[in-house]
Amino acid sequence: MKLCRFNQNRLGVVQGDDIVDVSNVLTQLPGANYPYPSHDVLIEALERITPLINDCARTGARLPLASVKLLSPVANPGKIIAAPVNYTKHLEEVLAQKQLHHGNLINEIRKAGLFLKATSSLIGAGQDVELIHTDRRNDHEVELAVIIGRAGRNIPRQDALSHVAGYSIGLDITIRGPEERSLRKSADSYTVLGPWLVTADDIPDPSNLEFSLHVDGELRQQANTHELILGVPELIEFASSFYTLHPGDILITGTPQGVAPIVRGNTMHASMQSIGDMHVRVVEAQA
Ligand code: MN
Repeated sequence: MKLCRFNQNRLGVVQGDDIVDVSNVLTQLPGANYPYPSHDVLIEALERITPLINDCARTGARLPLASVKLLSPVANPGKIIAAPVNYTKHLEEVLAQKQLHHGNLINEIRKAGLFLKATSSLIGAGQDVELIHTDRRNDHEVELAVIIGRAGRNIPRQDALSHVAGYSIGLDITIRGPEERSLRKSADSYTVLGPWLVTADDIPDPSNLEFSLHVDGELRQQANTHELILGVPELIEFASSFYTLHPGDILITGTPQGVAPIVRGNTMHASMQSIGDMHVRVVEAQA
């Protein structure tokens, strides 16, 4: 199932070139009192309400996909976990280019660990990336994104995929410079998740997905998730050895070689096997 959020917080199921509006199921989510849950209650309930979503999808209003504005398929992630340098060829390109590493010590992921991006940086495919600090290089990074469905800590890699709700494409937009990654990658709109969430039953094996990113028609990045240094099960094991993973947590798995600048007016076209395509516009943030 391809689940999306669109327009004014509507919930939809993608079928071919259409979206079926299944927002009625949102009434089945638990009401909340302050303090509200810090995880995503829709993702938490997803398995339970899937039969209801399927019921709604038989009768819901049908709209052309091209007519809606896609939002992030996860509304309220508790955290966005990101993997640095998780493809060997990307490590090599970063080490080779001073304008990418800025003298920072760059290590492959087993030494560098993981970092967090601000949840306020998250947008969907129908929203624009709004560049800031345009005197510096702002780069695209296309990645496989994993959405956690079931909470856990110290999850062994053999069990890891049973904790996954689904997969999306992630764009990890990055201001180059000497500061910590969490600062340079957390500006508003610098994390794109989309175009929708493909539930894990439709992607039993995330370790062999072709993906690419074009900017204004020019191929910039192309790789396969089998090239990941730490694959999805290993990343979940690693991350959950430091913090509890909660429903709706997003894990972006790292970018392959080919990172390059984006500027105002560009359109990024990200594509991933078994997930789909998204076109994301790049603008400059208003002062
Ligand atoms: Mn990245």
